[in-house]
Amino acid sequence: MRIDLHAHTTASDGTTAPRALVAEAVTAGLDVVAITDHDTTAGWSEATEAALSAPRPLSLVRGMEWSCEARAEPDRTEQNRRVSVHLLCYLFDPDDPAIVAETERLRGERARRLRVMAERMAADGLPVDADALFADPGRVPGRPHLARFLVDRGVVESMQAAFAGPLSTDSPYYERKRDTPVEDAVRAVTAAGGVTVIAHPRARSRGPLMDMAQIVELAESGLAGVEADHLDHDADDRACLRDLASRAGLVVTGSSDFHGGNKTVRLGAELTAPDQYAALVQRANGIDVVGTLRASADEGA
Ligand code: AMP
Ligand code: ZN
Ligand code: FE
Ligand code: FE
Repeated sequence: MRIDLHAHTTASDGTTAPRALVAEAVTAGLDVVAITDHDTTAGWSEATEAALSAPRPLSLVRGMEWSCEARAEPDRTEQNRRVSVHLLCYLFDPDDPAIVAETERLRGERARRLRVMAERMAADGLPVDADALFADPGRVPGRPHLARFLVDRGVVESMQAAFAGPLSTDSPYYERKRDTPVEDAVRAVTAAGGVTVIAHPRARSRGPLMDMAQIVELAESGLAGVEADHLDHDADDRACLRDLASRAGLVVTGSSDFHGGNKTVRLGAELTAPDQYAALVQRANGIDVVGTLRASADEGA
């Protein structure tokens, strides 16, 4: 079984439409793929339709990557600092009023923040047109859109260079967004029948890390797992997360975090073990995985 539980589409900052993501999943030989756009479920219906008519059985896990904030790793200088953390949320009721309201606020916050960054760059003489960034209203805006803009206009050589320079958290252009406290998001998704997994918890190239002790606390309020196998983690990070998961009773996942052409990683580059996937799905009581009924019916035929 090839299971990839983290992928973006044109509903947020990927370059592959939801339908094309499903086609790519078939090409990549996946048995299970999850659609996890940033702060939106807008890609779900197109992906569902595609999965139901896929040329071979494919299970689609409908999910989202929720922009959250958590407690920073303790250090001597700053106490109670908040850091960005991404929460993978699966199989929850997409009409849950609390989730609908908070993700709508986050999408507005993303637009505000990206406009502030673009305007700071323009004021500094960079060839950035803030309005052009929002030309496609179907996409939840993210820094990759601004990065792509800078690459296309020759300001930087690559997406990597954009994130290392003008878009980095240390850049004078950087503007924080006000994300959801991660404990609130875990509770909301759990209440809506879904399951939650902390995405790339030790991806330190993205900025300061969350306190691993908070992951243990979150496990007590419903967190289901941690993403260990991710390209932003080295071998030590993966081992540390497996150890944490076994101590806290959490599931361990692995996934590509596919973004189409906005990142070099390929779909299926990292995978989740079948027993861990089964444990994760078993903890959910919201919506169903798309395609499993058809897959088992086909097996029995
Ligand atoms: P945002 O959610 O707007 O803060 O942007 C974060 C997104 O930027 C992540 O989800 C990644 O898709 C992308 N990103 C972060 N670092 C890099 C990088 N070094 N190269 C390419 N994309 C990146
Ligand atoms: Zn992204
Ligand atoms: Fe992420
Ligand atoms: Fe992601």
